[in-house]
Amino acid sequence: MTTQYNMTIGGAAHATADFFEVENPANGSIVGRAPNASLVDLDAAVAAAQAGFESWSKTTDEERAATLGQLAEKLGEHSEELAALITQEQGKPLNGVGSRFEMGGVGAWTGYTASLSLPMKVLQDNNEGKVEMFRKPVGVVGSITPWNWPVLIATWHMMPAIRTGNTVVIKPSPYTPLSTLRMVEIMNEVLPAGVVNVVTSDDQGDNIGAAMAAHEGIRKIVFTGSCDTGAKVMMSSAETMKRLTLEMGGNDAGIVLPDVDPEAIAEGLFWGGFINMGQTCAAMKRLYVHEDVYDGVCDALVNYTKNIPMGDGMDEGSVMGPIANKMQFDKLKGLVEDAKTKGRVLLGGEAGDGLFYPPTIIADLNNGDPLVDQEQFGPALPIIKFSDLDEVIDQANASENGLGGSVWSKDIDKAKEIASRMECGSVWINKHGAIQPNAPFGGVKKSGLGVEFGEEGLQEYTDIQVVFS
Ligand code: NAD
Repeated sequence: MTTQYNMTIGGAAHATADFFEVENPANGSIVGRAPNASLVDLDAAVAAAQAGFESWSKTTDEERAATLGQLAEKLGEHSEELAALITQEQGKPLNGVGSRFEMGGVGAWTGYTASLSLPMKVLQDNNEGKVEMFRKPVGVVGSITPWNWPVLIATWHMMPAIRTGNTVVIKPSPYTPLSTLRMVEIMNEVLPAGVVNVVTSDDQGDNIGAAMAAHEGIRKIVFTGSCDTGAKVMMSSAETMKRLTLEMGGNDAGIVLPDVDPEAIAEGLFWGGFINMGQTCAAMKRLYVHEDVYDGVCDALVNYTKNIPMGDGMDEGSVMGPIANKMQFDKLKGLVEDAKTKGRVLLGGEAGDGLFYPPTIIADLNNGDPLVDQEQFGPALPIIKFSDLDEVIDQANASENGLGGSVWSKDIDKAKEIASRMECGSVWINKHGAIQPNAPFGGVKKSGLGVEFGEEGLQEYTDIQVVFS
């Protein structure tokens, strides 16, 4: 019997007539059935969130901090169950930097967000008067999430929203709806009715997402996904003047300087490029290596990568899993086939069974080649040789995206100087993609608008009100 999951609206299971099936990318089996929401269901979710806002927005800061603590605990109790669901619908292994790691992030971010606070600030207090600045919740927040880190990204959206007194309607990706449906159901064991509501739909063209962006009852959209969809969200939300946080695609460059020890950085390069089978916004998607260490870095990376076990994510021994869906698999395959005509395949390069695609490393590519210029969002890393530092910084910056970047060197001061010249929101030195809850994360250029995490991320869920007395 296929398990049927329910939307939670106003604290209760919400029935729909229509359901859709969610496939396990490791073997094509059906993981479960998710509700196919209509626009009427969306209206019901927004109305429930508006009703929930009446009382939730009046709770004290301490009450909300305590509630987030309870949520961290409750989700922690269901960690193994949610990890298994993520693995089955998304493909990433339980182990490695997989679904158990993702659930660890849920606890870390929820706990840290609980500890943050945005107290009133006195801007002036003198003979001429007092000026106080308050941060108020905006209202109903619409969260739209992608399929790569479904529960962690849902956490990044929902926890700061409710921490600051807002209520939420979340819509996960049609590829990975089940873990979010279950997560919201669990959260509702702790939360008052209407604080967090979930709608799911199999509509790829995305009626529900687009309707959320245009909805009169939603005051802010927090969106994580592709650049094209983010631009659509921005347009749809213009008329209602919504607040927006948009976390979108990246094409992160890594720059390896001539002073590195190739063996010592191989593991870091591997995880930088291949975390979550490369299906990570801030994964390293282009690797520029100085000619003096080019062959050594290529060899060390290939030697490290070729021993990584790949298989069904539910097997405890798997460290890499399948590509999450056919759409992404086809895109990756097309980019690799083209790259094979332009560069030198060092590892992989041939699709495996079903949606499995082995880690692929292709050397001797250049800017202008599609695997270098486009976001592959999969396990195929292009390597580009360079000789001149100024030129390579220009090449790294020659992208519409500006999410992350990395510099690899023993000379940290030199690496920081290069970091300052890179056009991106985060730069890592001798690692790539290591985000943490106390450091604001976001993209420049077409990679996004606003930041998540830390106090700066929390502020994005509030409106400022200044009182002059
Ligand atoms: P996507 O843009 O296809 O979908 C994201 C979400 O938007 C889904 O829930 C989808 O149903 C919904 N959607 C689709 N059309 C919509 C519309 N017109 N209006 C509103 N919502 C709509 O992205 P994806 O394929 O799920 O995710 C992969 C992309 O996400 C990659 O580009 C990746 O870099 C990016 N990403 C960015 C970050 C970040 O923090 N910057 C994190 C993870 C993923």
